[in-house]
Amino acid sequence: MIKQIWIDFKNAPFRIWLIRGIISVILLIMLIIELARLISSPKVEAESLNLRNAPNDQSKIIEQVPYGQHLKIIKSSENNWWYVKYNNHKGWIASWLLDKKDYNSKNSNKIDEATIVIDPGHGGSDSGTLSANQQYMEKTYTLKMANKVVSRLKKMNANVIMTRDSDKYVSLGQRTRLSNYVKADLFVSFHFDSANGDGNASGFGVYKYHPNADGVANKVNEGFDLPLHSRGVSMGDYYVLRENKQPAILLEMGFMDSNHDLQYIRSDSYQETVANQVGKSINKYFNE
Ligand SMILES: [Zn+2]
Repeated sequence: MIKQIWIDFKNAPFRIWLIRGIISVILLIMLIIELARLISSPKVEAESLNLRNAPNDQSKIIEQVPYGQHLKIIKSSENNWWYVKYNNHKGWIASWLLDKKDYNSKNSNKIDEATIVIDPGHGGSDSGTLSANQQYMEKTYTLKMANKVVSRLKKMNANVIMTRDSDKYVSLGQRTRLSNYVKADLFVSFHFDSANGDGNASGFGVYKYHPNADGVANKVNEGFDLPLHSRGVSMGDYYVLRENKQPAILLEMGFMDSNHDLQYIRSDSYQETVANQVGKSINKYFNE
């Protein structure tokens, strides 16, 4: 048997056939690898995307990447920008816009490529302040309100990152580190106030610390038209504002220990109204 194969292998036509066979198999494997690479590499579903020279919305636009292009991801940044290659072009794209079918960078808004950190105050073992009857906790309503704002901002195509999206403890340091790490274009913290139980204080207010937040603080304050009384924009020496390098504001949207304010804080329609107005103001801040 062995002898017979050896004899066949020495036979010239058989050798040519064998070499051809091996080359065909190698080519087929290469083709399969290339196809797999193409299928697994993300495709641009948007009408067009900006290719920029740095992973942020202020950097120079190199060109537009059109619909249907397959991208090779070289690396990603901490704020969800991808450094990609397509054809022979390289640059950064906002990855969250990749599969937005109706997105066209030629008529985009500045908020589309913005990274916004939304911070629902307190959580987990830290319940925040309590209602006068001790039944309702601030942490429940900061998350409800933040979630409503997040859904508005996502509809506006922004890259939204939450410091928490469930009832868990997150330290103040973790919150600001996240904002600084992703180089957020904006950080918004949600809270409800307390006047230490006397129940007489009422109203909502906007807080800022560094001058880089003046513009957005004023814009958000001007955009409010609520059933509660406005306490305006104030300087607030809060950790999440003070330790934030990014433009940061903190919203106190009513007093938990005021029975008057609490009925609004707990109502879905008040939360919806606040979220609509905050969403609109943030959009204006980025696009005006
Ligand atoms: Zn609070």
